[in-house]
Amino acid sequence: MRDEIKSMLKDLPPMDELLQKPWTSRYQEILGREAVRSTFADVIGEVRRDLLKGLIHSFDPTLIESETRVRLEKRSRKSLRRVVNATGVVIHTNLGRSCLGSEVLDNVRTVSASYSNLEYDLEEGARGQRHSHVEWLLSSVTGADAALVVNNNAGAVLLCLAALGRSKEVIVSRGELVEIGGSFRIPDIMDFSGAILREVGTTNRTHLSDYLKAINTQTAMILKVHPSNFRVVGFHSEASREELAALAREKELIFMEDLGSGVVADLSPWGLQGEPTVRQCVESGVDLVTFSGDKLLGGPQIGVIVGRSQLVDRIRHYPLLRAIRVDKMTLAAFEATLRLYLEGRTGEIPTLSMISQPGETLRKRARNLASMIRRVTGLQARVVMTQDAVGGGAYPAAVLEGFGVEVEPPEGVSDGSALERLRNAPVPVIASAKEGKILLHVRTMLDGDGMDVIGALKDLSPREAGNDGED
Ligand SMILES: *Cc1c(COP(=O)(O)O)cnc(C)c1O
Repeated sequence: MRDEIKSMLKDLPPMDELLQKPWTSRYQEILGREAVRSTFADVIGEVRRDLLKGLIHSFDPTLIESETRVRLEKRSRKSLRRVVNATGVVIHTNLGRSCLGSEVLDNVRTVSASYSNLEYDLEEGARGQRHSHVEWLLSSVTGADAALVVNNNAGAVLLCLAALGRSKEVIVSRGELVEIGGSFRIPDIMDFSGAILREVGTTNRTHLSDYLKAINTQTAMILKVHPSNFRVVGFHSEASREELAALAREKELIFMEDLGSGVVADLSPWGLQGEPTVRQCVESGVDLVTFSGDKLLGGPQIGVIVGRSQLVDRIRHYPLLRAIRVDKMTLAAFEATLRLYLEGRTGEIPTLSMISQPGETLRKRARNLASMIRRVTGLQARVVMTQDAVGGGAYPAAVLEGFGVEVEPPEGVSDGSALERLRNAPVPVIASAKEGKILLHVRTMLDGDGMDVIGALKDLSPREAGNDGED
């Protein structure tokens, strides 16, 4: 038995020989000889281990080559790539949240292809501040006195708590101690910041008197947190923003709100109600509001802090800011996005335009897509109504009525394997399945995505060999 294994181990092809194989030269060129060698070594190592463990009793030498080739092919493609979002979830965190429009991207290119006045005051000819580029714009758009931006909203919350609440108590309702997106938990952020969490109330009810009772000489802040996707239905109550603002003022505390998505434009014309805009929060007396740039605002990943100048100034001088500062490409994208708001051109912000697409437009787009799918792929496709979502934690209960195309996978292909093959297409298509059929929501598909979807659907057919008839 051992001799058998020994002889099989001896039969493993030598590396020199493998590296001479003509098919490897392409990969040696793009990835380097060392990467090809180490990929072969990994695969051979795994075969050797499985033989020794007795997990396999023989091996096919061609398998070493084919497996290595699959891995090299994968490594030679870009890892972070464009995909088609056919899920109907507009702010899809796993798919990169907001898409940026062309004018915004042009600005990123212009500013980052050359030197810029990122931290240079052109009037003074001296060192300037990177935040200065968006502060006035943020004030105009939200009505706040002052503003600051950092890497993301989680960073913004951490920075505010550390700068203003370190070693002091911060009061939060138990109904708002939520986990967002699997990694952002208020108690953890509070821990990192050095602030002491003071929980009040219960999961479903927190009264103003609960806050009042918790206030002592150690209290620095009252924090209100947007509960994101978590919703309490039925018997529940919370203290209003105005009540909390009045209490904080009376007790000389800071009233901060982590708004999460941060609605800047009024979305009620599209039936989206119940989320306050940043401006409304500021007007209700919140001293500091934090929100994300890439959720409902529709810009790049950024964390925004707006509020009273005196507080924003204290945060501006807190050293942690340097560790989570925003980069110039992001700032360029963010400034250009804010200018679209200022000019009333919100229709050019993809996130907002997707949310506000009229039903009739979506129906027409679905009809066109379905007929193209039928014509080009020969697959069964029909227009259906869909339930789309805003995503990103905002309006969790709101259903955006949409339209989509339901596609019947070809004979012998299950819906699961169809979805897998769509994901592995040259331009990956992320879709869902319903009752054995593929469902493509058109709301989140961009111009030109249709052709990629059709290309991917064409390749679903199990006719592997002999595509001779194709043009
Ligand atoms: C999304 C969200 C965050 C995290 O924001 P990032 O920009 O992803 O860091 C924090 N708080 C709330 C309430 C959120 O909805």
